[in-house]
Amino acid sequence: MNDFIAREKEAIYQTYGRLPIQIEKGDGVYLYDELGNIYIDFISGIGVNALGHSNPKIKKAISNQIDKYMHSSNYFYQRPQIKLAEKIKELTGLDKVFFCNSGTEATEGAIKLLRKYGNENGRKGILAFPNGFHGRTNGSLSLMEQPKYRENMAPFLEETFVFHGNANDLVSGKYDNLAGIVIETIQGEGGIYEFPKELYEAINKLQTECGVPIVADEIQAGLGRTGTMFSYTQFGLNPDLVLSAKALGGGLPLGAIIVGKKLSSVFTQGNHGTTFGGNAVACAAGLVVINELENGVLKNSEKLGKYFKEKLAILKQNHSKTVLELRGRGLFLGLKLNTEPSEVRDKLIEKKILTCTASNKVLRILPPLNVTEEIIDTFIEKLAEVLDEK
Ligand code: PLP
Repeated sequence: MNDFIAREKEAIYQTYGRLPIQIEKGDGVYLYDELGNIYIDFISGIGVNALGHSNPKIKKAISNQIDKYMHSSNYFYQRPQIKLAEKIKELTGLDKVFFCNSGTEATEGAIKLLRKYGNENGRKGILAFPNGFHGRTNGSLSLMEQPKYRENMAPFLEETFVFHGNANDLVSGKYDNLAGIVIETIQGEGGIYEFPKELYEAINKLQTECGVPIVADEIQAGLGRTGTMFSYTQFGLNPDLVLSAKALGGGLPLGAIIVGKKLSSVFTQGNHGTTFGGNAVACAAGLVVINELENGVLKNSEKLGKYFKEKLAILKQNHSKTVLELRGRGLFLGLKLNTEPSEVRDKLIEKKILTCTASNKVLRILPPLNVTEEIIDTFIEKLAEVLDEK
């Protein structure tokens, strides 16, 4: 392991704080390290591995597609891309899909699209919300304000704003001419955080009364994570544009911009594109993800989410000094702690359990969506042991 740490330091640009584990393989909810240790993985590749590691159906679909071809370019019509887009349309009721490769690339495309829509319709400015996370490229960072992501990286895009105020301020007339509002319905990096319900209502009002397009960033919260296919449905939002990535590619890089009728003619041929977007292998994997969600995994996320939350609520009661708040829906869960969550995370690693942290002292818990009660029980038992020592 020390050898890997030293080699990584020498060879790789030091932008990540890594956990002291060298991964050898994954299988379902388990990750194996090079020493033979087996971990219960409740990070799930930061929400990517919705079906767990090395899912046999994903492997088969990938392998079948590789046997045919891997990459052809967007010069051609491609069956897996079209099938996945049709499936996404069916799920969202929206009109068109543009495939890209990552979350931040989806955000960038959305900003571009909103700009064009705004310029053609006399609308200006894109509004986002405090503590949101939309990616690491310059456009995405322009919708964020946390210094830890932005320090010394200015200038950012013009006419981008982060809203500070309450729901009443939002409907006060200052924001009726926006080109778009971008919101993570439930914030992931921001600490599994939900806004007061009045804020979602105010956003809805700006859309219905003033025609402001809504963009729901479902990159982390989407695709079954919160117990419904997309989290925005739980907040009564009808977005004009949905951003998807992470779980969408079943472990391969895949993102999507999904637009409703209002925005589906804004881009015309040549306005947007990407070499790898909608790669056939990634789309073949994505189809399995959605089929599996529809064939029981989504139900499991909802059911086990309730089970998990009940267990966590008891744990919170028993550790009320350390656990201040239980957050989240479905299997998108967080515990706000009054201690550093990285300490709890590290103690859990010693017990062969993997979790990650989020902003504002939150321990973030992202099991695969096909997790079982038994695994959840083991997690609760180990977490209780760690908290008992606090
Ligand atoms: N939006 C949200 C809500 C995210 O959680 C993330 C990544 O964590 C992104 C956007 C950026 O996605 P990516 O890292 O694939 O660029």
